[in-house]
Amino acid sequence: LQAGLEKLRELPAETEDGYRIQVQVNTGLMTDISRSLERGAEGVGLYRTEIPFMMRDRFPSEEEQRQIYREQLQAFAPYPVTMRTLDVGGDKALPYFPIKEENPFLGWRGIRVTLDHPEIFMVQVRAMLKASQGLDNLRIMLPMVTSVFEAEDAQHLIHRAWLEVCEEGIDVPMPPVGVMIEVPAAVYQARALAQRVDFLSVGTNDLTQYLLAVDRNNRQVADLYNSYHPAVLHALMLVVEAAREEEKPVSVCGEMAGEPGSALLLTAMGFQALSMNASNLLKVKAAIRKVKIGFARKLLNEVLAMDNGEVISSYVDLQLEKAG
Ligand code: PEP
Ligand code: MG
Repeated sequence: LQAGLEKLRELPAETEDGYRIQVQVNTGLMTDISRSLERGAEGVGLYRTEIPFMMRDRFPSEEEQRQIYREQLQAFAPYPVTMRTLDVGGDKALPYFPIKEENPFLGWRGIRVTLDHPEIFMVQVRAMLKASQGLDNLRIMLPMVTSVFEAEDAQHLIHRAWLEVCEEGIDVPMPPVGVMIEVPAAVYQARALAQRVDFLSVGTNDLTQYLLAVDRNNRQVADLYNSYHPAVLHALMLVVEAAREEEKPVSVCGEMAGEPGSALLLTAMGFQALSMNASNLLKVKAAIRKVKIGFARKLLNEVLAMDNGEVISSYVDLQLEKAG
């Protein structure tokens, strides 16, 4: 653990004047569990289920999946664990399920794949539900949603899986179901989506890539990939507003949540939870605990009036330094 920050483990992510936000972790590997618990994570905002799938040479069976998911749910209970359904395609390949496309980021990925393969989706959801028996801390999240019908179709399948599991005599509640906001279309559909689901979570990694038309993994254009770009900040504002109007919780689970400067801006915007790599958790907590909410809101208002992402980024760093 970072020297000097361990003492923050037990303390909440709360501003000097008592404004509180949840800090959660993004997980995927088994080792993420201990790293997260050591740092006092308040649950999992994004469990990337494709990671255990990537480490095998075939699709894991329902029982294999149940065991993997059970470990996550058990380790973090009673805190919530947000399990994202399989997000393959784009930059995430399964060796035993090859997808060859000219434009993988605009192709068959995330929810598109699983809605075309309900048998894969149903096995996964049944395994999640069975794993949650007696713990009741499961939340299910859908990746790469572009249209309302995708959320609805997936919800129907989840409901069907739930009925099947109940019929097998396993008594679990229907979990909250949410969608990721990670493509521009979803930003403009955020209110319609929020009406249909239980929560929203913004995936700023993909959202930045799609808003700016900059491949998140292409070094040639890495300088242009900037989550402080005004288009990204204003999109985030639209999503928070949509969630607020529908009274649905909204969080961020992209890398932006794990940087002290952007975490302050997201807090000021009104996101209720930030989910990040465990290694960033104490750093972000420290930044939030050092300021008053008024400081973060003033900073947000200032940057929302600016029109250059690089200037915004340096301005935020500078103000953070000044704040000590
Ligand atoms: C995102 O896109 O911001 C996200 C959290 O998902 P992933 O990085 O797994 O695509
Ligand atoms: Mg994503």
